[in-house]
Amino acid sequence: MSKVKLHDKYFKPYISAEKINEAVYKMAALIETDCKDETPIFIGILNGSFMFVADIIRAYNGNCEVSFVKLASYEGTGSTGKIKQLVGLNEDLEGRTVIILEDIIDTGNTLEEIYEIFRYQKLKQLKIATLFFKPDVFRKGLPIDYIGISIPDKFIVGYGLDYDGLGRNLADIYQLTTQKMTNIVLFGPPGAGKGTQAEVLKEKYNLVHISTGDVFRFNIKNETDLGKLAKSYMDKGDLVPDEVTINMLKAEVEKNTDANGFIFDGFPRTESQAKALDAFLEEKGESINGMVALEVAEDLLVARLLKRGETSGRSDDQDESKIRNRFNEYETKTAILKHYYEDQNKYYGVDGVGSVEEITKRLSAVFDRL
Ligand code: AMP
Repeated sequence: MSKVKLHDKYFKPYISAEKINEAVYKMAALIETDCKDETPIFIGILNGSFMFVADIIRAYNGNCEVSFVKLASYEGTGSTGKIKQLVGLNEDLEGRTVIILEDIIDTGNTLEEIYEIFRYQKLKQLKIATLFFKPDVFRKGLPIDYIGISIPDKFIVGYGLDYDGLGRNLADIYQLTTQKMTNIVLFGPPGAGKGTQAEVLKEKYNLVHISTGDVFRFNIKNETDLGKLAKSYMDKGDLVPDEVTINMLKAEVEKNTDANGFIFDGFPRTESQAKALDAFLEEKGESINGMVALEVAEDLLVARLLKRGETSGRSDDQDESKIRNRFNEYETKTAILKHYYEDQNKYYGVDGVGSVEEITKRLSAVFDRL
């Protein structure tokens, strides 16, 4: 699941189809218990409820009837409060148990209108079931009998709910996001498999992969000034100075103005790089969605790096003392970044031991949430 664009706005995954399904089945079971001696008539409020109605009816095992009415209150992303007319109610409801099916109740304006209309129908009873409910903005004292999922005051689309007509066909629920890009820091000690995984994940999520190590190596190969400068540090397994690295990173980002987002691999490696990255992204109205860290024990990694050194052609992979120095740099300067992102609730640790495919799967589960 990744972000979707509807008209001019971006929406990110929020509630999965499985979670919705669970809630729908629970509601159906509750209603069934309450209506075991009668045949209720479910009335779906169009358009948003059509998917919910279809699913809850399928989950309902007792006898029931189904009908729909139309009563729209939404235009754009805010509740306008303007309630339109009710259309489509042809059934004689006298003496019946009516269960109104709503996709979402927020302010309660629509609900109030429904109560008003059905008050004169001589029903046996009127019950309200809503899949989504926003307790924070609900302003009416009216009873709601069945609530699927309570949510904060977010604008949501999917599973029948729309933004100006679009998004109803999404199986999951998405929420409005002001952030356009998905920016992920792929983290972990040298040899953890960041580069290998980034190659797969960038395709899967349509992101631009920036590996600062690769950019330095490219510059060294082409004997640029930057390459000459970086080489002396890299050859020893030391970090290249922050200022040089930060400027290079910014230039790489600027080359990709159309990107959906970035996978930063090997950057940031110091707290000052992390701060510079945050400030740089903030200027663009963007931010880091999360740091996804491959967690692997150091003794496993030294062996991995020496093995890689046999074919990678990287001098810093071939000498155990250089490798140890890279770990030392990692432990003293880089590992603390875990706390930097943890403090922002953006740290996601992933077990980095296993096959490439297994690890991709674990990483994807986190990427999907970001
Ligand atoms: P890597 O390919 O990520 O293992 O990086 C190889 C080497 O490039 C490191 O040992 C550093 O010398 C240099 N390097 C890469 N990224 C950075 C960074 N963010 N800050 C400083 N040095 C870096």
